[in-house]
Amino acid sequence: MSNPDVIVVGSGASATSAALPLVRAGRSVLMLDVGNRDTRYAPLIAPAPFSSLRQTDEGQHRYFLGDAFEGVPLGQARAGTTLTPPRQFIHRDTHRHTPLCSEGFFAFESLALGGLGSGWGAVAVQFDDHDLADFPIKHRDLAAHYASVSARIGLSGARDDLLPYYGDCASLQPALDLDSNARLIYQRYERKRERLNGAGFFLGRARLAALSRDLGDRKGHAYHDMDFYADNGRSVFRPWYTVEELGAYANFRYVSPYLVNRFRELPANSGVEVEAVDLTLGRREYFRSRCLVLAAGTLGTARIVLRSLGGYGTRVPLVANANSWWPCLHLAMLGKPADDRRHSLTQLAIVFDPGHCGRIPVHAQTYSYRSLLLFKLVKEVPLAVPEAFGILRELVNAFVVVNFFHEDRPSPDKYCALRRGESGQPDVLEIRCTIDREVQRRQVRTEKALLRQFRRLGCWPVKRISPGYGSSIHYGGTVPMTVEERELTVTPECRLRGTRAVYLVDGSVLPYMPAKALTLTLMANAERVATLLNGELARTCVAA
Ligand SMILES: Cc1cc2nc3c(=O)[nH]c(=O)nc-3n(C[C@H](O)[C@H](O)[C@H](O)COP(=O)(O)OP(=O)(O)OC[C@H]3O[C@@H](n4cnc5c(N)ncnc54)[C@H](O)[C@@H]3O)c2cc1C
Repeated sequence: MSNPDVIVVGSGASATSAALPLVRAGRSVLMLDVGNRDTRYAPLIAPAPFSSLRQTDEGQHRYFLGDAFEGVPLGQARAGTTLTPPRQFIHRDTHRHTPLCSEGFFAFESLALGGLGSGWGAVAVQFDDHDLADFPIKHRDLAAHYASVSARIGLSGARDDLLPYYGDCASLQPALDLDSNARLIYQRYERKRERLNGAGFFLGRARLAALSRDLGDRKGHAYHDMDFYADNGRSVFRPWYTVEELGAYANFRYVSPYLVNRFRELPANSGVEVEAVDLTLGRREYFRSRCLVLAAGTLGTARIVLRSLGGYGTRVPLVANANSWWPCLHLAMLGKPADDRRHSLTQLAIVFDPGHCGRIPVHAQTYSYRSLLLFKLVKEVPLAVPEAFGILRELVNAFVVVNFFHEDRPSPDKYCALRRGESGQPDVLEIRCTIDREVQRRQVRTEKALLRQFRRLGCWPVKRISPGYGSSIHYGGTVPMTVEERELTVTPECRLRGTRAVYLVDGSVLPYMPAKALTLTLMANAERVATLLNGELARTCVAA
């Protein structure tokens, strides 16, 4: 494909959401991606329930533990420690091609086909106007795109107490079935709703990009509890399905493994030139197009922008949802058997809005615990391993793990800067983040206030696990969307300032991180930008 209309960098949730409307509108699109895949483990996993694989599959150790025991994380829980061996390809080669040096930030990037979305937890909620208060766009700018992305990827959930916070969705499928643990919590919540709501505690079914009913050739969830390992039935949305769908169009081409270094705009409005390294041959190549769409992830896009605009050493902001885990004991489940039929994703979600003002400081998600296996929990118990295993075996059905996500704002103490690599080595992205002590104390206070209400549902917190800032893998803000003209920002249409035809469509453009999962918004925004870009391309064609 020579001189396509648009080059898209990346194949993740953002890149594919930008490419699809352009391709459907007849634009020629070239997607450049590193595009690592898992060819080792996926073929080993039969589409069967976790319990029967544990009892019958003689080769199960390979995908549960890993051929090199890479599924057994040692040390403190950090970003990506829940990723099982079949999901670890997501992170492969990043230390080599996109090195980082960070202090106070635990970064996790992807060079995979489908990006981080090849292992995401599929929580998919809308940002409302409270969340978008610090953005130069409003919910009405995204509404049509939330609707079309949701219908395309398939969302399940319920119109319950969380609806005012999550937004409605015409194509919403019924929520996935709750497991025994979550069902009891939900029943108790229904009895105590009034009092809990009075304290600003709202509980509901998770809103997930996971099917409860068939959609096209994807299947409704089979409740095998294997979501951390396999994509059975394609029930959980992964961006690589969209790359496959795009592959059916003659005006689309996917090229990998290419690592994009930089771009430059060509004189006389004649488009953009992209420099990339063919990672198979180790050779630089140049591609030209009318426009460029960058979706290499919040940190990856920052690297490309800084390198292209000569911004070595320049500090750019970074935001991320601070997160923590609280294992809780659900007393009503003690000694009770748990359902075998279940999914492994978020069961219930909690919005905490103590001020009843709509702008929430924290969002929490609950999980039951089984298929991640007990050895991951054992090291968190202050007992000898055999005793810890014995106790955990008795308690595991009664565990509810609550995962908290806090809002985050930019500050001068949180930034990254690109350092030029020495003697042919790759450039290094340096990240420095210091979190204000008072902000941290406030976050813990908010978590404890929420958990006080959770105790009314019979769930008693055991301990707080803090995997460190950055471990949420919800990143944004490196080249934010602003109204005012500033260097290293994008316009509300996400055009990089100082360029004519370079657009950014991933987390890099989020000026602020609301306390909600970001990816559905990244996808809706990418589709919005691509739709505007398509109009722009049509106008320039007519003018020419
Ligand atoms: C375990 C886990 C659970 C998560 N759970 C949730 C959740 O429940 N809900 C939610 O909203 N979010 C969740 N997230 C975060 C979510 O996955 C990301 O926000 C989202 O996938 C980001 O998509 P993206 O396309 O913007 O970037 P990425 O997924 O990072 O994609 C970047 C793409 O660019 C390519 N690339 C990078 N650099 C280059 C380069 N120089 N040249 C060429 N190609 C390049 C990569 O190959 C990749 O295809 C989770 C993430 C993880 C890891």
